[in-house]
Amino acid sequence: MINELKISRHDIALIQSELEANKPYEACGVLIGTVKGSTAYVEKALPVANVKRTRRSFELDPKEFYAAWDGAEKEGKEIVGIYHTHPVTSAVPSLWDRETMENETSIWLIAGADGMRAYVWEDGVRPVNMKQ
Ligand SMILES: [Zn+2]
Repeated sequence: MINELKISRHDIALIQSELEANKPYEACGVLIGTVKGSTAYVEKALPVANVKRTRRSFELDPKEFYAAWDGAEKEGKEIVGIYHTHPVTSAVPSLWDRETMENETSIWLIAGADGMRAYVWEDGVRPVNMKQ
């Protein structure tokens, strides 16, 4: 199980600027990289359109998501996680997030009004250490 997420300052800045640019709506995207042992290494954060475009939920555009998945695959990488933003609330999974996470195996990175945190689902929501 993954318990650590390595992500560059550059990618953190990119997600933060997506949060600001899409206010008051949630922004979302994918984290592309590799998993080694219990650590996920993010090599690129890639914004994906939020087809729901609401203040309280998000849904990755399926075509863009597939293109990102396909592109990662061709480079021998994978989608290690997804990110989304909470422009006005904290970086804690909402009820909707929790219900969606149950069907996911990847990392969820949430950029909230109070900073960024990462989680995985493992019989419940479990925090993941973030390192630069
Ligand atoms: Zn959320």
